Amino acid sequence: MLVTLQEILTDTRKNKYAVGLFNCVTLEMTKGIIMAAEEKRSPVIIGPAESLLPAATLEEYADMMLGIAKRAKVPVAVHFDHGFSSELVRKAIDLGFSSVMYDCSMLPFSENVENTRKMAAYAHSRGCSLEAEIGHVGSNGSAEESIAKTVYTTPEDALRFAAESNCDALAVAIGTAHGVYTEKPVLSIEVLKEIARSCTLPLVLHGGSGLSDAAFKECIEGGISKINIFTHNNLTAARTAYLNYSDRTGAFELMPLIAASIMKETMHLIDVFCSAGRA
Ligand SMILES: [Zn+2]
Repeated sequence: MLVTLQEILTDTRKNKYAVGLFNCVTLEMTKGIIMAAEEKRSPVIIGPAESLLPAATLEEYADMMLGIAKRAKVPVAVHFDHGFSSELVRKAIDLGFSSVMYDCSMLPFSENVENTRKMAAYAHSRGCSLEAEIGHVGSNGSAEESIAKTVYTTPEDALRFAAESNCDALAVAIGTAHGVYTEKPVLSIEVLKEIARSCTLPLVLHGGSGLSDAAFKECIEGGISKINIFTHNNLTAARTAYLNYSDRTGAFELMPLIAASIMKETMHLIDVFCSAGRA
């Protein structure tokens, strides 16, 4: 069934588990994630990101993912991740996404608050949840924006932002980065705990692919409610196609194999995030 992000994250902090946002770009990835969530009786979040839109349009993703979410036997939030353009975020809300992230984290604090507050009002009027980001989660492997450019979230900023922006979930920068890690990330669990002490909003960890199971557990213990995974499943899907390809193997033969490998990897992460049995 389709639910909002706010509904899916309500009990997470209290019961010490996190729900995964597994970004997906194909039918096989989407099916694999839903199969894993149903098998584990776990709530789950699926969806594309603005940076992934060249692969398909927002409308195409909405048609596929909202239909699958509504038919699922577990609660599913369909989330538009890292929307930078207000037009696209509004379009996602209008298309029926039950959650959007409006990312104004590169703007000055006051502008981020102002933009977020306006978009949160629009989202809430249409039954949609809104995630925002403060500090800035960097990305691995791009020359102009390295992990060193991560701007850490401060507990003071988190508290003020939560009070003034009216968002439903808050992405914090505590040392993770998007993409494939070239160096082992150093997480500031103490900063996270301090943020969680003052800010009661569900906190979101971006750049989850590549973290150890122990690091995920520490983050959940420290107050993280939602963990974003894309790179891991993205690479898993391509590797499965590569390893199973032969002259006589077509897309039709590869599709169930890709869905099965995504299901397996996602089931493991659901266990690590302790969201199994929570649906
Ligand atoms: Zn992210």
